[in-house]
Amino acid sequence: MKALVWHGRNDVRIDTVPDPKIKEPTDVILKITSTAICGSDLHIVDGMVPTMEKGDILGHEFMGEVVEAGREVKKFKVGDRVVVPFTIACGNCEYCDDTLYSLCDNSNPNPEKAKANLGHSISGIFGYSHMLGGFDGGQAEYVRVPYADVGPIKVPSTLSDDQSLFLSDIFPTGYMAAENADIKRGDTVAIWGCGPVGQFAIQSAFMLGAERVIAIDSVKERLDMAKKHSRVELIRTTDRDDVYEKLMEMTNGKGPDSCIDAVGAEAHGDTLIGKAVDKTKEILQLPMSRPYVLQQIMMSCKKAGTVSIPGVYIGMVNEIPFGAAMNKALTFKMGQTHVQRYLKPLLDKVDEGLIDPSFIITHRMKLDEAPKAYDLFKNKEDKCVKVVLTP
Ligand code: NAD
Ligand code: ZN
Repeated sequence: MKALVWHGRNDVRIDTVPDPKIKEPTDVILKITSTAICGSDLHIVDGMVPTMEKGDILGHEFMGEVVEAGREVKKFKVGDRVVVPFTIACGNCEYCDDTLYSLCDNSNPNPEKAKANLGHSISGIFGYSHMLGGFDGGQAEYVRVPYADVGPIKVPSTLSDDQSLFLSDIFPTGYMAAENADIKRGDTVAIWGCGPVGQFAIQSAFMLGAERVIAIDSVKERLDMAKKHSRVELIRTTDRDDVYEKLMEMTNGKGPDSCIDAVGAEAHGDTLIGKAVDKTKEILQLPMSRPYVLQQIMMSCKKAGTVSIPGVYIGMVNEIPFGAAMNKALTFKMGQTHVQRYLKPLLDKVDEGLIDPSFIITHRMKLDEAPKAYDLFKNKEDKCVKVVLTP
């Protein structure tokens, strides 16, 4: 089959690789019908994620049709159309019992690699390094899905792929980010990043009762998209802007009640010098620590406010004003999304017409063109926000 394969930093290619096979009786094999590229994939392409190996198949946002089911699979049969959570979970451990699926104790077959980097292992993730299981991803024609009775969910025939695909990751991720922000009715929520995760965090914050949502980004078309689909207020960052000052102005000096970091480890610097330092680090292939969003959040969030971090961080992060966080008594909540927890409730919202997640799609391409799609998405060319690939 064809698949998008990682060959090294900024080097992904379409290769012909062996078709996946059932390995465990609880697996299914899917024929992919739609798959997407995520901001998390960019951390891999940019060489920030340890334990990647040449030949790894990327992709953790996908859906498709069951073409083979292991003998112990009860929920699905050949021909079922399903969407799959990016987090792989066993459904039986202490963490799965508490619906903390991204912290599953059993789904990562390489826990020692994760322990060396994180202290403990978390769940396996499709197409996301050997430290997180070495699972082949779904930017491919076919994929093996382990623990099929725990993860995937059947999609009603009334919903298109475009409406269902983002249940695999970014809609639940935006939703959990808003839940983690502990929003109370009447609250003001500030959200850094208007990429796909930020867009769904904005939608979800309003769903959960925020009075005001303030979105922050430098990319005009992403801010425009947020505005088109909600009553969000915007801060467009430029080299001269001070986000802290603007937020204080907009909240009478109090600061937002909660702050969401939907950017993560690869934030852009907000000064020309910062940008130059980042570029140099990238060229020299030095470890990147770009904590600009965390800095702004810790300084701007109101006293006793809540900080929610869906943005992915890897390894060490230097130079964050931890003193501000401690002295202002901020609460932090974060993590990879417990997708399985949100699949059914969010699918119901889509089915009831409360939200149509397809608003995020700006580009459609064939799987063959995936390397070009990565470039477009990474460099935000041609107003790209989200690419859907079809084999
Ligand atoms: P993306 O790269 O498309 O979006 C990031 C956005 O942040 C861009 O629009 C960029 O312009 C903006 N940005 C960069 N620096 C900024 C700054 N200093 N201030 C304000 N905005 C800034 O990615 P995405 O797909 O939306 O994902 C966002 C983050 O969420 C990534 O770190 C991704 O890895 C992470 N993620 C986490 C989970 C999870 O389970 N927690 C799931 C999916 C994605
Ligand atoms: Zn993702």
